[in-house]
Amino acid sequence: MSEKDLLIDAAKQARENAHAPYSNFRVGAALRSTSGRIFTGCNVENASYGLTMCAERVAIFKAISEGERGFSAIAVVTDTDALTPPCGACRQLIWEFCGDVPVTMANLSGKRETLQMKELFPRPFDDSNL
Ligand SMILES: [Zn+2]
Repeated sequence: MSEKDLLIDAAKQARENAHAPYSNFRVGAALRSTSGRIFTGCNVENASYGLTMCAERVAIFKAISEGERGFSAIAVVTDTDALTPPCGACRQLIWEFCGDVPVTMANLSGKRETLQMKELFPRPFDDSNL
């Protein structure tokens, strides 16, 4: 199994834990650190809606909180025909911690596409703007 397949698989498994009783839109994400570890996340919804947290940010916060710095790839899995890219808030966070990494979007039927963060987030606001 390739590194990309492993990352997609981890995101699929994390998606199973999604807490999405309001939208039923279940998302899984998996983040590979340069040290080789994989951190996963799922979306976690809340009855207030606004406090909902995306799968990508859950994975990033888990990794950062465990001391990881430096990431090489991220995968996002949903069960939609059209592949799901990270939302704007997640793109900002992915850029902050991962930079120009490949972002693989996949669904449960085996469809997948990989784009670089530079393509998804061409003019980021980051520490170079401060
Ligand atoms: Zn998001």
